[in-house]
Amino acid sequence: NKQVILKNYVTGGLPKESDMEVRESSILLKLPEGTRDAILLKNLYLSCDPYMRNRMKKAETSSYVDSFQTGSPIIGYGVAKVLDSTHPDFKNGDLVWGITGWEEYSLIIAPDRLFKIQHTDVPLSYYTGLLGMAGMTAYAGFYEVCSPKKGEYVYISAASGAVGQLVGQFAKLLGCYVVGSAGSKEKVELLKNKFGFDAAFNYKEEPDLDAALKRYFPDGIDIYFENVGGKMLDAVLLNMRIHGRIAACGMISQYNNEQPEAVHNLMHIVAKRVRMEGFLVGDFYHLYPKFLEMVIPCIKEGKITYVEDIAEGLESAPAALIGLFTGRNVGKQLVVLSHD
Ligand code: NDP
Repeated sequence: NKQVILKNYVTGGLPKESDMEVRESSILLKLPEGTRDAILLKNLYLSCDPYMRNRMKKAETSSYVDSFQTGSPIIGYGVAKVLDSTHPDFKNGDLVWGITGWEEYSLIIAPDRLFKIQHTDVPLSYYTGLLGMAGMTAYAGFYEVCSPKKGEYVYISAASGAVGQLVGQFAKLLGCYVVGSAGSKEKVELLKNKFGFDAAFNYKEEPDLDAALKRYFPDGIDIYFENVGGKMLDAVLLNMRIHGRIAACGMISQYNNEQPEAVHNLMHIVAKRVRMEGFLVGDFYHLYPKFLEMVIPCIKEGKITYVEDIAEGLESAPAALIGLFTGRNVGKQLVVLSHD
């Protein structure tokens, strides 16, 4: 059973491939006798997600996620096939998505976040992103947190990624004016030509983010879907409209910093009566059936599209994960281990 192990905790800075190791485990995986609620999985696709960076840090009280265990396989979202089960809800051959290990096979006892896949007439890999955690994040963040209305001005950072590309498409379906930023020409083209954003820009080529936002939003921003934090958040705060909303989804520009960057323009929240609300997707999984009901027909009718960046094999997983923090991924980053 090949596995990706976290070798050591990474406090500050970009993680390196050498912080992880691909190794062969000789432990035979089989269901423990007499244990109910155990399942043996064959992992098919693994999801690379920015929050995993926080799990690579040594436990601190301020973090909302537990640290990974050094010397053990990395844990994350994935898509898998059930090979054996003593769990009443899962049987051999079932396809599932949810929390699994970065390894070829995983033994899971009492799974608490594993969803049975019901719709198999869409690409299975979508359950690492569009139909999985990232999709639910976009859905909950946009519809539940942003309180969006038709015609509003919406801005999304890290807009071409797993979450951002969907938020933009949801906002367009509702009839909003949508602008996204991303870190390369290729990504900006995708935003405009593939995802239907009204406009998009490369934030790396903008020496003055405030001026850039004023160019795209001369009347200000109603909704900011926050994925990056830092300087971008500061510039956005200068451009919010009265009663604007900021959904604080993530702040990836800060995840490798030992000390978080200061935000200077918070007073604008008061003056503009802005509501800024953080959220975690984990609080919204009860909406998953409703989400599928909306999204599956949209996929089939071509109203929603999804771009994936697919790395091949467990050996490529460490670099794929690190690539999230340099913007190497174009679309949802996942790793394929096996197609069936
Ligand atoms: P993406 O697919 O968007 O990948 C990450 C992207 O972030 C990179 O491709 C890069 O794009 C951008 N990025 C990396 N470093 C920086 C930086 N220093 N400054 C600005 N941009 C940077 O990831 P996801 O869509 O999966 O996640 C997006 C955000 O949503 C993250 O902040 C994540 O933590 C958060 N999240 C929150 C959840 C919740 O429950 N609240 C659940 C899931 C995700 P580019 O080339 O454009 O710079």
